[in-house]
Amino acid sequence: MNRVYNFSAGPAVLPEEVLREAAAEMLDYEGTGMSVMEMSHRSSAFQKIIDTAEQDLRDLMAIPDNYKVLFLQGGASQQFAAIPMNLMKNKVADYIVTGQWAKKASQEAMKYGKVNIVASSADQTFSYIPDCSDLPISEDADYVYICENNTIYGTKFHELPNTKGKTLVADVSSCFLSEPVDVTKYGLIYGGVQKNIGPAGVVIVIIREDLITDDVLDGTPTMLKYKTHADAGSLYNTPPAYGIYICGKVFQWLKKQGGLAAMKEHNEKKAKILYDYLDQSRLFKGTVEKKDRSLMNVPFVTGDADLDAKFVKEAKAAGLENLKGHRSVGGMRASIYNAMPIEGVEALVAFMKKFEEENE
Ligand code: PMP
Repeated sequence: MNRVYNFSAGPAVLPEEVLREAAAEMLDYEGTGMSVMEMSHRSSAFQKIIDTAEQDLRDLMAIPDNYKVLFLQGGASQQFAAIPMNLMKNKVADYIVTGQWAKKASQEAMKYGKVNIVASSADQTFSYIPDCSDLPISEDADYVYICENNTIYGTKFHELPNTKGKTLVADVSSCFLSEPVDVTKYGLIYGGVQKNIGPAGVVIVIIREDLITDDVLDGTPTMLKYKTHADAGSLYNTPPAYGIYICGKVFQWLKKQGGLAAMKEHNEKKAKILYDYLDQSRLFKGTVEKKDRSLMNVPFVTGDADLDAKFVKEAKAAGLENLKGHRSVGGMRASIYNAMPIEGVEALVAFMKKFEEENE
């Protein structure tokens, strides 16, 4: 077996311990004589898996009792529609556009109501987070939407926007569980799990109870109504059961690591190794405003597309995989999620130093 350091933006690296445990339980989960993949979602064994997963997530994020946790399908992109369908009572929402995912979410919401782009960093290819301390929030906005960590561009809101009392909705797909959060500041937090938590196929929605109603837009499919899933404990229909089981294992792994405060410390340490190197390199350069840098996704370039391609190719041969930047921006991107060990980042920086020496 030869595991590589996998810098993929998602699906992404998972804790090796979790993968080993899942492998050991593959043929016979806790004496049931079957794998979790083969098990009824109505069985007591699965009910225990989903209940434990929810409780562990509640513990990790200190989720208050007046928030529901939903394990859904359809990826983060499906929420781009579900959010306006469920929350646009006045048919008005304010979006802060800091990258492609926020832009896509805003474009989807435009199908359902009036969308005001109250801030954007499109003017400088999304390389910064705009000042959101005093935005022209719409009087009648049903919510204010952000993408908290911009996977493609490598920026993060280190301070939440001032929503002037309006409900904050956040896509946290690429920073989920990477640091502590104050859930009470949000009305709805959601993310696809395939970056920091588990296999693709599960999206987690954490939503304040007063936002879960029958008063949704006309024509909202049953499956896109939060109330459907909240009332059924995420078991209205067959959930992505195996994915939820892996997420549950990752939650337990996170608890063992010391929870989200410990994860933040670990993630800061890892990111610093890479950013410190980038800041003094004569060849490589980070692409975003320093104050807005993400701890999870680190884009960088040499300034020469051919050299970038050479780097990605040689890094792959050295066991450092998936360093190619997103197709919309080029260059390189190292995603260093929770499960990326510090040794992986050290190996990357050592390789970059060597490449720099050889290509000056
Ligand atoms: N939001 C963010 C921040 C993402 O990074 C991505 C995927 N890379 C998405 C949304 C879309 O997720 P999905 O593919 O699960 O629809």
